[in-house]
Amino acid sequence: MSHSPQIRRPVHRIEISRSALESNVRVFREIAPDSLFMAVVKSNAYGHDLDRVVEALSGKVDWFGVNGLPEARRLRQLDAQTPVLVMGLNVHDLAQAHADSLAIPAGLTVVVSSMEALDWIAANAPEQSFHLKVDTGLSRLGANGAGLDACLEFLKAHPQLAWTGLMTHFANVEDVTDQSYALEQLARFTAVRERAREAAGERRLIVHAAASAPALILPDARLDLIRVGISLYGLWPSNETRLSALSQLERLPELRPVLRWLTRIVHVHDVPAGANVGYGCTYQTPADTRVATLPVGYYEGYERALSSRAHVLIHGRRAPVLGRVSMNMIVVDVGHIPGVAAGDEAVLLGRAEVDDASGASAEEVSAEDLAELTGTINYEVVTRILADLPRVPVD
Ligand SMILES: *Cc1c(COP(=O)(O)O)cnc(C)c1O
Repeated sequence: MSHSPQIRRPVHRIEISRSALESNVRVFREIAPDSLFMAVVKSNAYGHDLDRVVEALSGKVDWFGVNGLPEARRLRQLDAQTPVLVMGLNVHDLAQAHADSLAIPAGLTVVVSSMEALDWIAANAPEQSFHLKVDTGLSRLGANGAGLDACLEFLKAHPQLAWTGLMTHFANVEDVTDQSYALEQLARFTAVRERAREAAGERRLIVHAAASAPALILPDARLDLIRVGISLYGLWPSNETRLSALSQLERLPELRPVLRWLTRIVHVHDVPAGANVGYGCTYQTPADTRVATLPVGYYEGYERALSSRAHVLIHGRRAPVLGRVSMNMIVVDVGHIPGVAAGDEAVLLGRAEVDDASGASAEEVSAEDLAELTGTINYEVVTRILADLPRVPVD
């Protein structure tokens, strides 16, 4: 007996649109034609899959940005050429790699924030290229005050060190439409830049400050290079940033979401009025209905806080999540959607292709929709999707 082809198809499918990635890069090339473009691919490319994203963007971006050494090594295997900035690398990681006789892959630039790191580099890896990070008001990484003065003095006295850049990071561009704090940070950075140029002597520094939001709405922050993460994946850093862009730019740039998360119904059955659905018996069906079970839960990155709140798209229509999200399963109501069967596709995140000849407008579950339901941000929604689920490149 042969099995239906429906059953052999994988139950999870996370599509990564290459054309959307490329189109989002183009948006930034148009907005900031004089700046280099760094694709920030830390955290498994914001959950989109480092391999798929690097394969799609190799040769099309000027830099890649990652957080740590493991990602940098993987990236180097996928792309031997494009410069890589390791933004979260610290002196302990460097020393550990050194102690383990693990070479730092070629073409890697690390970020240093302290005299301790500079001392280590001067003593152990004097040819290692690095960017000096300045804390201008985020208080996370970066040198400031007397520490910064000491770094600049040391760098001036060590012209043989491969100091190649100067950077900072904004604290508060996404969360507000009033950019006065960011402008203060930028003013501090500009002042340091002058001192850094003087200390650098013959060395030419790449100077950069802007992540997605400042690249979109703070023209003076674009400088030599923009470090674009969230919006590379077609997502707005926040609604405030979208509103600011709307008021500043002639037309709103079209960012195209890159990721679609689909699964398949594994079970369909009819339940009577008053049936309890899910753990904790938190939901009772108000009437006889039909429910479908989907093989996804909080382990896969479909947050438990979405219980009885989110909906998925089946046959292009909204199917509400009933009751609790379990570890590996959810139950959705399909009583109002005709002809639903096991094996049918459900969209958890992204647009539903219209399968309706009348051309009814496409429904969408956006990362922002899910973020709003669980009190978080789109960044967290996409980075939480279990890395083990296969991502497949499309278009
Ligand atoms: C993550 C990160 C970025 C990218 O930020 P987005 O808001 O996602 O564009 C840029 N710079 C640094 C230092 C980062 O850590």
